[in-house]
Amino acid sequence: MATIMIVEDEQAISLLLKYNLEKEGYETICIAHGNRVISAVEKSNPSLILLDWMLPEMSGLELCRIIRNNPEYKNIPIIMLTAKGQEEDKVRGLSAGADDYVTKPFSVPELLARIKTNLRRVTVVASTQKKEYVFQDIRLDTVQKKIFRGENYVRVGPTEFRILQLLLTNPRQVFSREDLLKEVWGNSVYVELRTVDVHIRRLRKALNEFGPDYIRTIRATGYSIDDHEVEE
Ligand code: CA
Repeated sequence: MATIMIVEDEQAISLLLKYNLEKEGYETICIAHGNRVISAVEKSNPSLILLDWMLPEMSGLELCRIIRNNPEYKNIPIIMLTAKGQEEDKVRGLSAGADDYVTKPFSVPELLARIKTNLRRVTVVASTQKKEYVFQDIRLDTVQKKIFRGENYVRVGPTEFRILQLLLTNPRQVFSREDLLKEVWGNSVYVELRTVDVHIRRLRKALNEFGPDYIRTIRATGYSIDDHEVEE
């Protein structure tokens, strides 16, 4: 069974989460201090992390960046928990590498649904039959869960990996934002269309460090991977 790490300094919320997650059959690890998170992740290798934004000693945002920059832990799904509901904070959280974002006060059933979806996504990628996708100098290895561009290793988060994998299943086909949401995030979760753009930007930035931009934005429609110029 999956182990969920709860990083939250408010004991009432931490206990509420622990109780509900254990009722669903998950194992839990509760951490209240920002500076204990990394060593706890090393020790327990959790399946998913619920990460509070406002923490003593170290912010959730900072922790999110540290985890994402560690090749060993960068694929662990992270759901940010925060009292801040503003759009710019959400974008900041996602830019730091969070996979999902829940605003306090949250509904327990909704949070549980999001946890399930984020865990399932990891499994879907792991069980994909095709082992490798290649387009020009881009190579996505589903076994190693790594992306290469020529000889270079391209670092991306799990969401960017899934987006690229989907685009690579059908090069030159245009995927709408709705398609991407459905295939990458799943049907059961409400994610704004803008979130897709945030992750595409991140994917593009990582890939383009090593070569030309093959991700096409088709205005008002969606995205594709293509080596021909596309009229926008
Ligand atoms: Ca807090």
